[in-house]
Amino acid sequence: MADSKIVACPNCGKSVEWTPENRWRPFCSHRCKLIDLGAWAEEKYRMPVAEDPERMEERDAGEPPERSGR
Ligand SMILES: [Zn+2]
Repeated sequence: MADSKIVACPNCGKSVEWTPENRWRPFCSHRCKLIDLGAWAEEKYRMPVAEDPERMEERDAGEPPERSGR
């Protein structure tokens, strides 16, 4: 019974055997896995930090007072 499955490495597209021995699946190698994870992390870092919805509301409702001091 051949239970192995061939998948494409998400990073380089190389054919990878999906086996229990392949610890980097679905990637073809440790390197490809690191590269993919790195790209993912980078995108995550680029996202603006989510603030509390309550805080956002507060900021929306109260406009900053105009400086009309002379
Ligand atoms: Zn690869």
